[in-house]
Amino acid sequence: MPPRKRKASKDSDSDDSGDSAFENSEAKAKPSQTKTKAKATAKAAPRKKRAAASDSKPTTDSNDAKTESTETDSKDPVTTTTTSTATATATATAKQKKSPAKKPPSTRNPALVTDSANDAPTDFRRRAEATNKWIGVHASAAGGAANAVHYALKVGAESFALFLGSQRQWERPPLTEEAVATFKKTAEEASFNKAHILPHGSYLINLGNPDAERRKKSLEAFVEDVSRCNRLGIELYNFHPGSTVGECTPEESIKLIAQAMNETIARVPNVILVVENMAGQGNVIGGKFQQLRDIIDLIDDKSRVGICLDTCHAFAAGYDIRTAEKFDAVMKEFDQVVGLQYLKAMHINDSMTDFKSGKDRHDHIGKGKIGIEAFRFIMNDDRFNGMPLILETPEDPKNEIALYRKEVAMLYSLVDTKEGDPVD
Ligand SMILES: [Zn+2]
Ligand SMILES: [Zn+2]
Repeated sequence: MPPRKRKASKDSDSDDSGDSAFENSEAKAKPSQTKTKAKATAKAAPRKKRAAASDSKPTTDSNDAKTESTETDSKDPVTTTTTSTATATATATAKQKKSPAKKPPSTRNPALVTDSANDAPTDFRRRAEATNKWIGVHASAAGGAANAVHYALKVGAESFALFLGSQRQWERPPLTEEAVATFKKTAEEASFNKAHILPHGSYLINLGNPDAERRKKSLEAFVEDVSRCNRLGIELYNFHPGSTVGECTPEESIKLIAQAMNETIARVPNVILVVENMAGQGNVIGGKFQQLRDIIDLIDDKSRVGICLDTCHAFAAGYDIRTAEKFDAVMKEFDQVVGLQYLKAMHINDSMTDFKSGKDRHDHIGKGKIGIEAFRFIMNDDRFNGMPLILETPEDPKNEIALYRKEVAMLYSLVDTKEGDPVD
């Protein structure tokens, strides 16, 4: 086994890749300012009720329009490697000791913090920088993309997902230049790195539909979504690969999906198309790593494709991740079949349904059929460094932000703990 190496933060990867206003925001912060502002952020936080989010969360899977993801092969293995949790933990500990002086803590503009939840400051940023684990949440973008940034700030999230428009309607108001500017400014002020922002595609889109007219409609919506990412300076776009809708073979559907992705890549620059693995529902593509791989094989520009692994989906599709040993084996399989270098993001969800259920029902971390060890494994394994690790756990409209915040804290508390240790 190769020696374990901590993966370089994606922050640095993204610096040269676009003209996003906020890509280098962390580097711009001056150390002295940073400390002052961090304190101010902790105190400021005027209380204000957040408007109820009207958009729904990707907590359950759904229509047959959904897809599954694929895998990749390839050759630019990320610096991460696989090893035992114990080794990972040891390495992480050693690095944590060295790293703090390197990067200044990031600045967050206190004026942006508008929810009481942030009255109590978190040390999530410090933990994220020390561990290179960027825990985030699916944030409500009700009222505009910039509101997702505010939402993430209220949680204390270090990465976030959002929908780029209604995910249940084809018709969407255009994304205005003003909204783009506001989003970029807000994300920069909040010191989010664009590599840690992972928009989620519309559930209506099915690139694998053999019906030409329907597929065309999906493709146009897909291109629009990806262009929105590009305009917003976001470099990742996560989507469900598609479904045969029972009208063609999975192989045919996979070809159609890859064709649509290639066309989108030709039409829109910069954005990496991040295919999500699926729960193995009926006609849905992407339950098996091999299907993810088959999609990637057909993509002309491999630098524009990636994979987002959803833990709930993987478990439901028959990948047992309930212990560190089993999860490690699954990651080795992923590396062999798809290639770790394609892993760009994780969706961190427990599962309400049983192993191999083929059903997509997210549960709170440690409360479902997967259990806490899978998440402890993620928090102590370098293969998940530098990428958005997004919670999509079920919403409770009454105290969604507080619940998310608690889950983020709990996940960070798992760092440097061992299998079987009690959880806070
Ligand atoms: Zn999804
Ligand atoms: Zn997901």
